[in-house]
Amino acid sequence: MQTHILGYPRIGSSRELKKACENYWSGKILLEELLEVGKTITQQNWKLQQEAGIDLIPCNDFSYYDQVLDMTLTVGAIPERYQEIAFKKSELDLYFAMARGFQKDGLDITAMEMTKWFDTNYHYIVPEFQKNQEFKLFSNKIIQEFISAKKTGINAKPVIIGPLTYLLSGKEKEEGFDKLDLVQNLLPVYIQILKELENNGAEYIQFDEPFLALDLNEKAKETYQLVYNEIRKQFPDLKFIIATYFDGLKDNLSWATLLPVDILHIDLVRCPEQLDEVLDAIPNTLSLSLGIVDGRNIWKNDFSQSLAFIHKAVEKIGSERVFIAPSCSLLHSPFDLDSEKNEDILSPEIKQWMAFAKQKVYEIVNLKKLASEKPDYNTLQQLADNKKAVENRKTSTLIHNQDVKNRAEVTTEDDAKRNSPFNVRKETQQQVLQLPLFPTTTIGSFPQTKEVRSWRAKFKKGELNVEQYDTFLKQETERTIRWQEEIGIDVLVHGEFERNDMVEYFGEQLEGFAFTQNGWVQSYGSRCVKPPVIFGDVHRPNPMTVYWSEYAQSLTQKWVKGMLTGPVTILQWSFVRDDQPRSLTCKQIALAIRDEVNDLEKAGIRIIQIDEPAIREGLPLRKSDWQNYLKWAVEAFRISASGVEDATQVHTHMCYSEFNDIIQNIADMDADVITIECSRSQMELLNAFADFKYPNEIGPGVYDIHSPRVPSKEEMVELLKKAQAVIPAQQLWVNPDCGLKTRHWDETEKALIAMVEAAKEAAETF
Ligand code: GLN
Ligand code: ZN
Repeated sequence: MQTHILGYPRIGSSRELKKACENYWSGKILLEELLEVGKTITQQNWKLQQEAGIDLIPCNDFSYYDQVLDMTLTVGAIPERYQEIAFKKSELDLYFAMARGFQKDGLDITAMEMTKWFDTNYHYIVPEFQKNQEFKLFSNKIIQEFISAKKTGINAKPVIIGPLTYLLSGKEKEEGFDKLDLVQNLLPVYIQILKELENNGAEYIQFDEPFLALDLNEKAKETYQLVYNEIRKQFPDLKFIIATYFDGLKDNLSWATLLPVDILHIDLVRCPEQLDEVLDAIPNTLSLSLGIVDGRNIWKNDFSQSLAFIHKAVEKIGSERVFIAPSCSLLHSPFDLDSEKNEDILSPEIKQWMAFAKQKVYEIVNLKKLASEKPDYNTLQQLADNKKAVENRKTSTLIHNQDVKNRAEVTTEDDAKRNSPFNVRKETQQQVLQLPLFPTTTIGSFPQTKEVRSWRAKFKKGELNVEQYDTFLKQETERTIRWQEEIGIDVLVHGEFERNDMVEYFGEQLEGFAFTQNGWVQSYGSRCVKPPVIFGDVHRPNPMTVYWSEYAQSLTQKWVKGMLTGPVTILQWSFVRDDQPRSLTCKQIALAIRDEVNDLEKAGIRIIQIDEPAIREGLPLRKSDWQNYLKWAVEAFRISASGVEDATQVHTHMCYSEFNDIIQNIADMDADVITIECSRSQMELLNAFADFKYPNEIGPGVYDIHSPRVPSKEEMVELLKKAQAVIPAQQLWVNPDCGLKTRHWDETEKALIAMVEAAKEAAETF
């Protein structure tokens, strides 16, 4: 039996890589200094795994920005627009230019696109392919990393994005070809890399092929077989691991197990039920890597359960053919639980239930020891400790709240329904709200200036007392209300100055949430997120936002919109408990938000927005699982929104708006108003709503808030004309694409003044 790690986090124990990259980009440190930081992190990671006793330690899992972009540079798929930089700059500068764009030395080159890596919160840089895309070995990173591991005495296992997953992750930038056809050009480069690795003494190679766990068409299936047959033919002696993760092999099982490789890795956290099928199907030339330690969550492994999996596999295929591993790369786990030292932030009771990347490495080693015939005393002690922690978590009074469980149980479909259908509500709301045609609003946040952030930091450090901080926030809020009144916005917002983050702010006020000090996970490039941990039954002990909404409303005769984050988004952007279905956790959050919505109504707030930007990204990887997810996700939103009177107008907001295949579900959410992202697509995204004859009101964003550029009134009028051509004017709102927190005040002011004028012109002329 052997242990291996699919990949290790590379941000460093205290986000050294982030800091070094950002310092390099702003010219504060030299290239050599950045490279030194990268080298140190890689060495530390290897050493840690070596000391723990991992058999196969990965290399090439380190990256300065993104592993997919590394592959793009390796195979030389450099888009034309970077040619000039490629010519003049170092390899790493070219690489960063591709990731981040390049605006210097008279050049202005856009970055490559970024998108989510499967259903994780990690974003990768999307490869761009032309019709006759050529590939050549451009960067030697893989080989260099292998050699440098060898120098430290490790015969590492290079981790390489598999050729099919690489192609399938990319985008065809022109018409008239299928990216899979590029495999003929790509394969020789892979062969070349493998040759060099073999010449340097590599034994094991890991190909990451998560697409094997997704829905594939016939052509993709055939290409998989063709590619791996060819690779096998060229390298009879290398040991190939194919790593699948994030879902089960399912309908791909029968042929995927026949691919001519040596080890197949499967994800038994996401799809534990596949073990039996896989064990039945694998030929006796194939070894099996059991992904049993969750690479995407922070919970301690349940050793008894994992040992049952291991024993089953050993019985069927023998221990020589069994590998033990995390479910996927540990890239998606925070670095080290040992650095959580502040008991006021993370209590010891909760901490004992958790494991970060470093702890997961030890779990894997311990599982191997426990599965061997004679575990030593120490190892048996580990098992006993593990059992105790697992048992403690199951029965802890911190987790279980019978009232919350009961309430979720008795919640019925009726609780997820507004009193009257939309057309009735619309009339009532119109009578109360008296809004003009093309009403204007914003998505919630106003600029989080340096000043706002420094006041929050001072307050957190205790340098400001509650009254001082409160006074400052009130001033900022009042100023924002006055300014919105002045420029003539119809539905105002308070500005969200009191919020650090749209999920954390709510998590901090809900029971059942814990926070970490250092639980950072890479989101993209140098950006890291620190998701809250939902460990127990969720409820809301006190109102969370009423104070600020009520204060803002008291300042003005106009309507102020209450602003909440929806249950699916809170769930999606947290580490979620794994001892009950996600749908149930989501329902508990929904009930907490419902209480908040009802309290806002009681406090006189007549318009309430429940943001759900993450509803689409929560879609399961397999289409056959979509409807089940959408059913509980939509229901959770409805539970949160349906406790109010007809006259109270519920809004929702979503950032990504490609809704073609789920428009029915979006309509089922039955929000009175939905604001969406539309301006970058020139209102094209509205077509899904138009074709569907979406009945409720819509605010298609009329300008892109992700750029500092100030849009003109005329272009927004044009966009409104386009919108009105497909959606009746009576249904339309006018607003930016998303919240304004990342923008500066001067550009925000100009843009919103122009937006209000555009709405007026639209109302007068249409
Ligand atoms: N209300 C939030 C804001 O304006 C919405 C942010 C989001 O959709 N991501 O910041
Ligand atoms: Zn948004």
